[in-house]
Amino acid sequence: MEEGMDYEKLEKLEEEKIEFDSNASEVHEGVCNECGGKLANVVENKNLLDGTLTFHIIKLRCLQCGKEYLDLNQAEKYDFLLILEQALRQKHSLASLSQKLSADSS
Ligand SMILES: [Zn+2]
Repeated sequence: MEEGMDYEKLEKLEEEKIEFDSNASEVHEGVCNECGGKLANVVENKNLLDGTLTFHIIKLRCLQCGKEYLDLNQAEKYDFLLILEQALRQKHSLASLSQKLSADSS
């Protein structure tokens, strides 16, 4: 029954993510470094913990050659996401480990 605590924390994280997202719209248009083609916004959804957490990452994709770019804000966000994912995965396995341990001792 300790899972409830984790979910509360995750919900708080999800609220933070919404504020996090609000400055992403400044990436509007650009030009490809490779071919000079026009870049279009592509939104990539990244799910953590089976969809408990969802991040929306905006990339720029060249319409001509398909090369993808992250702007600096998005790259930082992506780094944060990967670190968070790692931390959550460790926490998740830690939680299931402690569940096993308490199940064994009872
Ligand atoms: Zn291109």
